[in-house]
Amino acid sequence: MEKVILVRYEEIFLKGLNRNIFENRLIKNIKQQLRGFGSVKVTRSQSRIYIESSDAAFDETEAMLRLKKVFGIASVSLVTKVVSDYETIKAATLEHVGSLLKTKPYKTFKVEAKRADKHFPLNSPQICADLGGVILSGFPSSLKVNVHNPDFILYVEVREYTYIYSEIIPAAKGLPTGTGGKATLLLSGGIDSPVAGWMVAKRGVELEAVYFHSYPYTSERARDKVVKLAEILSTWCMGIKLHVVPFTEIQLAINEKCPQDYLTIIMRRYMMKIAQRIAEKNGSLGLITGEAIGQVASQTMESMLVTNAAVTLPVYRPLVGMDKNEVIEIARKIATFDTSILPYEDCCTLFVAKHPVTRPSLEKTKAYEKVLDEDALIEAALSQTECIILQG
Ligand code: ATP
Ligand code: MG
Repeated sequence: MEKVILVRYEEIFLKGLNRNIFENRLIKNIKQQLRGFGSVKVTRSQSRIYIESSDAAFDETEAMLRLKKVFGIASVSLVTKVVSDYETIKAATLEHVGSLLKTKPYKTFKVEAKRADKHFPLNSPQICADLGGVILSGFPSSLKVNVHNPDFILYVEVREYTYIYSEIIPAAKGLPTGTGGKATLLLSGGIDSPVAGWMVAKRGVELEAVYFHSYPYTSERARDKVVKLAEILSTWCMGIKLHVVPFTEIQLAINEKCPQDYLTIIMRRYMMKIAQRIAEKNGSLGLITGEAIGQVASQTMESMLVTNAAVTLPVYRPLVGMDKNEVIEIARKIATFDTSILPYEDCCTLFVAKHPVTRPSLEKTKAYEKVLDEDALIEAALSQTECIILQG
């Protein structure tokens, strides 16, 4: 009898030629996520993945917490694995239920059995009925059957081996990181952009991140906060490379030479252009921002048209139709919220006009920008960009 982690993934993505690519990548990512857990054996069988370790120090609970963050995994369970022999199954069932009752005072249960191995002498309903009886006589004073609303369900799957478990823990879902190409995230210290990055990463996309830092107008602590956010994100998406771009010179130049009401929009176009340069170098197929329609002046449809026109890569805005509260809910779930709300200054709030234009015109923007030496400003910023690798 041994403890094994059962990993389920959703079959809908597994049709056709991509199945192998998907599964191999998922296994590779699982192994990477479990590095540091000693030697683990990861095997695939019948659209499931099983993880076991002969190492006595292997911490299954901790390993499952890690696995919950692997995109592509739908759910995990800690299962008791035994040979598919009925006497052994009965003994393992009693032991499993015994240790479960030590964790909580459960009163009712039902058995759900699945016989995938048709050579097994009992069929699924027979296993349910018989094992139910075994449990009742094993724990006569504490447990009753309740098929409609049981305190726990004992799942028994008879396959080549038999797997017994009672908890299905939901995981990240989505698609395995690395199956969807790469994108570059404009990561600020706010609530939105980490969530935007996470949502795209969930679809199997690898991330690189760019942060525009306006030292000394934004402090080292503001930078540390973004590094921390990138670090949290990296635990979901198998590592992140964060590019920290010095942005002060550009902001000062815009502030000095362009009309006040167009400062923000011109600044945002510079961010996009620089992000695109970094994206092209690292093989990204798109940019990601945390914008939502109408959230602030620079996020109206008109403003986004003008920012988009600065670049040729597609700009993904996964939060476009979301309300702030919906974004916050995800930020809490992915554990970026507490860091995002730390009160450090944001470079976008520096040099802001009292009345930024909410309906900028592309023609005017381009005309105002002409006074800037764009190539020199961008080259200088890129040449001083610092790259931080977060392993995840
Ligand atoms: P966030 O909560 O992500 O900071 P926000 O609601 O504060 O977003 P803005 O400050 O207008 O909105 O920024 C819009 C988007 O532009 C951000 O979601 C982010 O993708 C990008 N962005 C803004 N500031 C920076 C920065 N300093 N570095 C990198 N990207 C930035
Ligand atoms: Mg912001």
